[in-house]
Amino acid sequence: MADAAEVDRVVERAARAFPAWRAVAPGERARLLRRFAQVVEDHAEELARLEIVNAGHTVGNARWEAGNVRDVLNFYAGAPERDHGRQIPVPGGVDVTFAEPLGVVGIIVPWNFPMVIMTWGVAPALAAGNTVIVKPAEWTPLTALRLAELALEAGLPEGVLQVVPGEGEVAGARLVEHPDVRKIVFTGSTEVGKLIGAKAAEQVKRVTLELGGKSANIVFADADLSRAAASAPMAVFDNSGQDCCARSRILVERSVYDDFLVSLSQAVREVKVGDPNDPATQMGPLISAEHRERVASFVDQADVHAAGSCPSGPGFWFPPTLLAGSSSESFRRAFTEEIFGPVVSVVPFEDEADAVRIANDTAYGLSGSIWTRDVGRALRVARAVEAGNLSVNSHSSVRYWTPFGGFKQSGLGRELGPDALSAFTETKNVFISTE
Ligand code: NAD
Repeated sequence: MADAAEVDRVVERAARAFPAWRAVAPGERARLLRRFAQVVEDHAEELARLEIVNAGHTVGNARWEAGNVRDVLNFYAGAPERDHGRQIPVPGGVDVTFAEPLGVVGIIVPWNFPMVIMTWGVAPALAAGNTVIVKPAEWTPLTALRLAELALEAGLPEGVLQVVPGEGEVAGARLVEHPDVRKIVFTGSTEVGKLIGAKAAEQVKRVTLELGGKSANIVFADADLSRAAASAPMAVFDNSGQDCCARSRILVERSVYDDFLVSLSQAVREVKVGDPNDPATQMGPLISAEHRERVASFVDQADVHAAGSCPSGPGFWFPPTLLAGSSSESFRRAFTEEIFGPVVSVVPFEDEADAVRIANDTAYGLSGSIWTRDVGRALRVARAVEAGNLSVNSHSSVRYWTPFGGFKQSGLGRELGPDALSAFTETKNVFISTE
């Protein structure tokens, strides 16, 4: 656990490594990132196993995550050679823009998807020519530390990618206030994100904030209801609900509400909860005893409509839990606050306008799903819901080819996609007189 003095030393190393790293020719930087991706591929099973120990992820998820780290590195390995500026027509000369790297970038990571969230920042930041410091969450430093070792093995120079484990309020806070850290990418709770945004403002420090969510899964009566019901549980319970994009509010058109609840309850009961190392397992334990307490505090047994089962032995187990529309205060709290556990709340809606109203009645705006066979309605509702990542007849949220981020209090800025480097560069404009 690094203290502030250790963070200062890490920042100094990163600042020292920056001039040489930004001067590496784009093709060479690309080659190093590709080699990093290859070393990750060579260690994919080891990284997946480490993530299971680190965060309790199911083996299926952990293997996908190791593959995602490789893919994101490969994707942004294509970026240094395409990081173009522009030539803009002006009178009296030539005008060109350059995408300049920022310098030292700090990436503060939560515990729910440790290695992938780290990489969504690291890969484009390195591709753009920045040096990077990652501060992993207190509970989950292992895969971050291993990835930094693998980067060195791949040939990235010392000081270009460093991992500094430590407490948020000590090591994280020092990164935010250190004047030589030019940008902070923070993924975590909205509460801490607001503090970081305010602190960063004192230095007009660049920030990308990826914060909480309370996303809606909107099911219209004309949808393929069996697919919608079968897929809804894992749209919340994946990673035991510890997912910022979890569709934790299900909104169902009233005419099909009762029937839908029957199939949804069945699907919730069928979720396989157990040993993360078993490939058949769909959902593992929660991250900690403390977090399980918090999740449990949202569940009033009177509101429980259906629940799955979970092991009772060692481990922070919590069963998949379905709460159905009620007017109780406890239901209202579960329906509006981010639980970050395997708890989903269902309510009926009257029509399209009502569905949009309920979906938008939240301070968050991260993701959401729309189930309907009417393409016009799918597009109208997708445009009307205030969220950064919507999917129609599916629950996809994060794909590295496409931009990811939140509206409203779910965040600021975007990660991933074709434009990710612009979050790690400054536009410099240069005018050259021809007179
Ligand atoms: P958290 O806010 O408690 O911590 C996140 C990180 O910030 C940790 O590394 C922590 O050590 C650090 N931190 C804490 N206090 C700090 C401070 N004062 N200064 C600097 N750093 C500090 O979040 P968490 O509990 O680890 O993660 C869960 C939250 O993350 C949920 O709200 C979830 O929705 C959100 N999340 C969002 C996204 C997204 O992309 N939008 C993705 C994953 C998780």
